[in-house]
Amino acid sequence: MSTETLEFQAEARQLLQLMVHSIYSNKDIFLRELVSNASDALDKRRLAGLTDDSLRGEDLHIEIEADKEARTLTVRDNGIGMSRDEVVGLIGTIARSGTAEMLRQLKENKESAELIGQFGVGFYSTFMVADRVTLVTRKAGEDTGTRWESAGEGTYTIEDLADAPVGTAVTVHLRPKDEEDALYDYADEWKIREIVKRYSDFISFPIRLVRTEGEPDTLNSMKALWARPRAEVKDEEYAEFYRHISHDWTDPLETINLKAEGTFEYEALLFIPARAPHDLFQRDGRRGIQLYVKRVFIMDDSRELIPDYLRFVKGVVDAADLSLNISREILQQDRHIQLIRRRLAKKVLSTVKDLMTKDPEKYRTFWREFGRAVKEGLLGEADDRKAILDVASFSSTAGDEPTTLADYVSRMKEGQEEIYFMTGESRAQVENSPHMEAFKAQGYEVLLLTDPVDEIWVDAVPDYDGRKLQSIARGNVDLPSDEKPSQERTGEFAPLLTWLGETLGDVKEVRLSTRLTTSPACLVSDADDISPTLEKMYKAMGQ
Ligand code: ADP
Ligand code: MG
Repeated sequence: MSTETLEFQAEARQLLQLMVHSIYSNKDIFLRELVSNASDALDKRRLAGLTDDSLRGEDLHIEIEADKEARTLTVRDNGIGMSRDEVVGLIGTIARSGTAEMLRQLKENKESAELIGQFGVGFYSTFMVADRVTLVTRKAGEDTGTRWESAGEGTYTIEDLADAPVGTAVTVHLRPKDEEDALYDYADEWKIREIVKRYSDFISFPIRLVRTEGEPDTLNSMKALWARPRAEVKDEEYAEFYRHISHDWTDPLETINLKAEGTFEYEALLFIPARAPHDLFQRDGRRGIQLYVKRVFIMDDSRELIPDYLRFVKGVVDAADLSLNISREILQQDRHIQLIRRRLAKKVLSTVKDLMTKDPEKYRTFWREFGRAVKEGLLGEADDRKAILDVASFSSTAGDEPTTLADYVSRMKEGQEEIYFMTGESRAQVENSPHMEAFKAQGYEVLLLTDPVDEIWVDAVPDYDGRKLQSIARGNVDLPSDEKPSQERTGEFAPLLTWLGETLGDVKEVRLSTRLTTSPACLVSDADDISPTLEKMYKAMGQ
């Protein structure tokens, strides 16, 4: 095939516009993105080589070459490479739904730098410093290479190339230096060293700087961060590693180390992000745990390593005793993997619990961002339930701030045995419900559960610390301070009750109550009925 000129997909074009008119103050990160992509490609080739000898590569590495005269900077890897179709698909379009979502939000919202930080833009960040970018690549196992080039202005060219080596080389044609940037140049050796050291030191392949004289110089230490003692690693190093594996651009909220010794050894380095990803509630959303075996990357997105309700946790698990050829199918059945999953879940929850006392602000951020997902865990293994309830907080009639169950219990009134809650669609709806009247009037605190998942878990969880969780909209809630209607009043209202029962037909029973203060009547469901909101949800789902 000859040279083709193609148009960037609309979203890619918008993103490029943002890059060309550089919205970031920190342009250095373009090099980090290129190195990060090269590292991912090397991981993939190493893995492919394990099962297919013909794909194996010698001396997997990344090479950086600068040419001050020509004002170019090239990042080269001998990784997996890309086919022509992949170049078009991966570089010319933005496949990640996150980017489309980001652009949509950008239009509504002016805090662009902030927002973009949440999504990351990868390869396109090169256009912050380049007026032209060339990419030459050949996929391992294929005969023909591909050359891609663009000035970042709507179109790119693509052509076949007979003699490309396996892997990918990205050449950035640096923009002319302006006065502002005169302090340094991305083609300066010291600048390259500085950026690689700062952002990419932990990359597990050598990053070599090609020099005019002498041997290439390896710039990074290649130390696996999870294998180093926590005290030796700077927060900034953890943060950079987090950005590398998560494709997020912000700092993590919390970093967690874990080491298991004995018959089945593994190390884990986990991160709780500071923000929920946009696809947290999408079934096919990207998950965060990478599996390594003895420092060798095996797979991304290992759902088996963390329960689904903690799917936002990012990180690495490096297990010493697994086979390098382990497949997802085997992972699902492996007993050790199940043990790792339980242990990681426990550790994440205990870390969150510690935050509640050590750093309440961080805890609040955690629960605001991830609480809705974490509560799904209440439907799963009973084992995790107590730990989840311990770190959960809920809106309550006691104030504007969410409360923990422990705090609720500590405020319970004299004689109160149960934890009262009501589910519904919104705080306002629940607070104004007639069910609430007596509880308000008599000063009983009620938890206001308004997330869809609340409707479901309250049926699965009978109690907290031996105190029953009681819906105030269901059956016979006896308030300790309730008075029973007197004989006399019951007699007086009997004809009305009978008439109401006959007229309404569908109700099971009409009762006289002392519960209501302003509303004349309210509907109560049976103790074992499903709640009205859940009923609505089922109806909406066509059940
Ligand atoms: P991300 O790395 O977050 O997926 P990027 O914009 O950085 O996004 O890269 C887009 C895609 O292009 C990558 O997912 C990868 O499939 C492909 N790609 C980029 N650089 C390389 C490379 N050096 N070798 C092989 N594939 C690459
Ligand atoms: Mg990338």
